[in-house]
Amino acid sequence: MRLTQLPLTTFKEVPADAEIVSHQLMLRAGLIRRLSSGLFTWMPLGLRVLRKVEQIIREEMDRAGALEILMPVVQPAELWKETGRWDIYGDLLLRIRDRHERDYCFAPTAEEVVTEIARRELRSYKQLPVNYYQINTKFRDEIRPRFGVMRAREFVMKDAYSFHLDQASLDGTYERMAEAYTRIFTRLGLRFRKVDAHGGEIGGSKSQEFHVLADSGEDQIAWCEGDSFAANVELAPALPPRLPRPAASATPDRVPTPGVRSIDDVAAFLKIGTRQCLKTLIVEGNEGGLVALCLRGDHELNPLKAERLAGVARPLRMAAPERVLAELGAPVGSLGPVGLTIPLFADHSAGAMADFACGANAPDTHLTGVNWQRDLPEPATHDLRNVEAGDLSPGGGGTLSIARGVEVGHIFQLGDKYSQSMHATVLDQDGKERVMTMGCYGIGVSRIVGAAIEQNHDANGIIWPEPMSPYDVMLIELNPKKSESVTAAALKLYNDLQAAGFEVLLDDRDARPGVKFADADLVGITHRIVVGERGVKDGKAEYRHRPTGAEEQTALEDVVEFLRNRQASAARG
Ligand code: ATP
Ligand code: MG
Repeated sequence: MRLTQLPLTTFKEVPADAEIVSHQLMLRAGLIRRLSSGLFTWMPLGLRVLRKVEQIIREEMDRAGALEILMPVVQPAELWKETGRWDIYGDLLLRIRDRHERDYCFAPTAEEVVTEIARRELRSYKQLPVNYYQINTKFRDEIRPRFGVMRAREFVMKDAYSFHLDQASLDGTYERMAEAYTRIFTRLGLRFRKVDAHGGEIGGSKSQEFHVLADSGEDQIAWCEGDSFAANVELAPALPPRLPRPAASATPDRVPTPGVRSIDDVAAFLKIGTRQCLKTLIVEGNEGGLVALCLRGDHELNPLKAERLAGVARPLRMAAPERVLAELGAPVGSLGPVGLTIPLFADHSAGAMADFACGANAPDTHLTGVNWQRDLPEPATHDLRNVEAGDLSPGGGGTLSIARGVEVGHIFQLGDKYSQSMHATVLDQDGKERVMTMGCYGIGVSRIVGAAIEQNHDANGIIWPEPMSPYDVMLIELNPKKSESVTAAALKLYNDLQAAGFEVLLDDRDARPGVKFADADLVGITHRIVVGERGVKDGKAEYRHRPTGAEEQTALEDVVEFLRNRQASAARG
């Protein structure tokens, strides 16, 4: 493609409404254009990247034995009513009505539709397992569409759904999908991690997520180099402290703390560390009462862990401050476990504290030098907090690190959640009807493009992992109007490279060299070749590798060979 035929509009300025770098760069480099909130047009260069990602996914899904289909994006409400999700899926579901007043929705996912297909197509255990997949548009009416294509409303997803007679067969396909995903993200050239995840909305049991590592990621991942433990922070168990609780040494004291509320303020006021302060959070119980949760001041409550406690309301709800004041006699910032009469659970680390400070259950008053057993009963301890960097790994192989990630893939074992309610059965070996067991496997195809940029960019622009580069080579012709020999040399190179199978973007625009170089850096194509007047005289071209910035000269007639070697060495890693 020649840039004189591809109207590329790039910007130097950072677009005002783009919060993160991938969104900014995709707009600046002309990869996408915003139509409306969470709706984007993929422009020529961006679409090439998206198609490359799709192609790698398709190849690996096919290799893993999955069958590509294409389901409608508009889905009838009846199917969603069969599973009950028409009423519980909520506002993410964009509902529409046709001229006959029939209800439909835009697909946010396709469990219902694929189960409808399976219950019609599959009759016998002999046909199982089957794994259907599609690469298709999804729509989710996200509360806060943001980060460009990473949290859009309309986006491209690869979704696969497998059907089985039994758990063993589901386990087999689930593992094959996990392997296929590992191959996909490896082939895309991305740094990623597979982590244990909870099922979230979709339900079911076993579930893992694939995250592209990037500082701006919305998710936090805890992982350990030594034992390859990796889990979403929400799910990673925090082990009890290794050392026993120190003996009580301080004498208890009552300290007026006027206006001092937050743990940071209390610690600063008392001139101690936050880890010497005990924080007491009040949540709603499941039978209308209140429940106290105690954590070390520097730790963060994990709601998923807390709502598993017997007697705690699910989902976890913090008690309203007015109610806390009315029933416990002190405001939220002055609460503590001493003399508290409601049920109390302490985090393991909170139970291991000695000589701690806490609220006195009286307005503007704290206690210091408090000790379990001596000043108040020994608490029941549980794992209630988020893990932190430096915590012991549950895998036993060292300490945890915390990294941020962008969720790009998710695999679930669904069990019979959908097949049961939709009566998707086959006949088994004994001629008996059996409900099929299901798995589902998603990849955020369009989100991958944003995540790749989050992970790979510099101050000048995008640095595509080579397999995602919109073209293989950016060929720049310097000052085309000035010299016919340069134009002729660039054109010859353009044709030779294409004949040799390279995808080439030729910058033959009548623009200043500085503009061309800046655009080339912004757009981020892996290999750059520059042909200029001086070089052509000497029979030379200038090469630059975008990822490393390495520059080299090569003879004009050797450019094809030179790039072949470059690609081969990149493929070897
Ligand atoms: P998230 O937690 O990010 O909202 P999810 O867990 O709801 O995602 P899944 O139902 O697991 O998403 O969908 C499969 C994949 O689709 C996700 O792993 C993600 O990569 C992608 N995806 C989900 N929502 C969006 C969105 N709004 N925009 C772009 N990609 C998305
Ligand atoms: Mg998910």
